[in-house]
Amino acid sequence: MDFGLTEEQQMVQDMAKRFAEDEIAPYIEEDEENHHYRREILTKMGELGLLGWSIPEEYGGNGMGWMEAVTALYEIAKVHTSWRLSISGNCWGPAFTINEYGTEEQKQKYIPGLVSGEFVGSFAITEANVGSDVGAMKTTAEDKGDHWLLNGSKMWISGGHTCDVGLVYAVTREGGGVKGLSCFVIDYRDIEGCERIPIHSKVGMWPAPTSELVFENCKIPKDALLGEEGKGFQICMWMLNNTRMGCATGSAALAAACGEGAAQYCNERIQFGQPIGKFQAIQHQIATLKLEEDAAKYLVYRAAWLKENKLPSQQATSIAKVYGCKAAVEGANLAMKIYGAYGYSTEYPCGRWLRDAKQFETLEGTSNIHMGIIGGIELGYQPNR
Ligand SMILES: Cc1cc2nc3c(=O)[nH]c(=O)nc-3n(C[C@H](O)[C@H](O)[C@H](O)COP(=O)(O)OP(=O)(O)OC[C@H]3O[C@@H](n4cnc5c(N)ncnc54)[C@H](O)[C@@H]3O)c2cc1C
Repeated sequence: MDFGLTEEQQMVQDMAKRFAEDEIAPYIEEDEENHHYRREILTKMGELGLLGWSIPEEYGGNGMGWMEAVTALYEIAKVHTSWRLSISGNCWGPAFTINEYGTEEQKQKYIPGLVSGEFVGSFAITEANVGSDVGAMKTTAEDKGDHWLLNGSKMWISGGHTCDVGLVYAVTREGGGVKGLSCFVIDYRDIEGCERIPIHSKVGMWPAPTSELVFENCKIPKDALLGEEGKGFQICMWMLNNTRMGCATGSAALAAACGEGAAQYCNERIQFGQPIGKFQAIQHQIATLKLEEDAAKYLVYRAAWLKENKLPSQQATSIAKVYGCKAAVEGANLAMKIYGAYGYSTEYPCGRWLRDAKQFETLEGTSNIHMGIIGGIELGYQPNR
């Protein structure tokens, strides 16, 4: 067992940290205020290889795997959690899934653009009335012989109106369910009958675009099918077991941001003639932040190590995600308390941390759903994939 980073991992960490400080940090306040998605940040991430983890080099991959990926994502998400979504939205969502299930033609057509940042990616599962119960989705893809016809709508899709390419899950067999879904890879620049509506009412994650997609007799080519017809549910679960690492790492990083910010504030803020960090009650709060930060981080590394070594990782991924959410929400709460009135002001990031932390309890499987996965595997009711 090795708790240190390799030389290469340290270089990745330094590079990602520098990137986040130079390219993301200067715009945080402006982008928060305007709910602005800065496309050029994704382009730069692609140029630096930050979108190409575990992707074969022949399709533009960076030659590195899960341990390096979570190390880089952690540094980015610590500065602003919205930007962690680009790694899931481009790499672990569409590119990685196309690499696993796609034809050679699909791989060549889509993966290099997703990895280089030329394309913005997305994946669309959720619908207005279908969240946790993925098998109950209603959007249909009808086989019309020489094309598929999509009808229905998707909700809460990250990058839905800004993406070029994305995966869409839809019903292809009467009744849908676990055996009735299929996965499609869609080039949004080249289709008609799809309306993409931005959602502006989110509580947090303001610079990360979220959308509703409405498909009305939307014709997509026959070769848009990804993997086998009827295997969409399995593909979706395989994909989520990867993209969830984005949530797990992002939430652990957010907990760390809260801890680091609060510790700095404790040494600056003077009350009763001394830094507030000298009070034992505050020291215990800082200790709690540190405990949560470390536990969340090492659970992420364990899950990444299992993936890297192609060992069953589903339970470890769910544990890292549930624990990370808890650490982020508790961390943001504690940070806001420690910053006092300034924590409640928009001059400091506590409000953003708290708003952004709450997302993790819901997306890519709510905490209840992940507790079900963890317990179900532990009890032997389901395999640990
Ligand atoms: C910012 C953001 C970005 C998102 N991005 C995407 C995206 O890119 N692509 C995409 O497809 N989706 C996306 N989503 C949707 C997200 O994945 C869903 O919100 C999530 O799967 C939960 O579904 P739901 O919100 O409909 O909640 P529901 O499923 O309606 O759950 C409501 C409540 O009931 C509980 N519950 C439901 N079923 C059970 C059960 N069996 N046991 C115990 N409790 C249960 C839940 O835990 C929750 O507390 C995004 C959401 C947000 C907020």
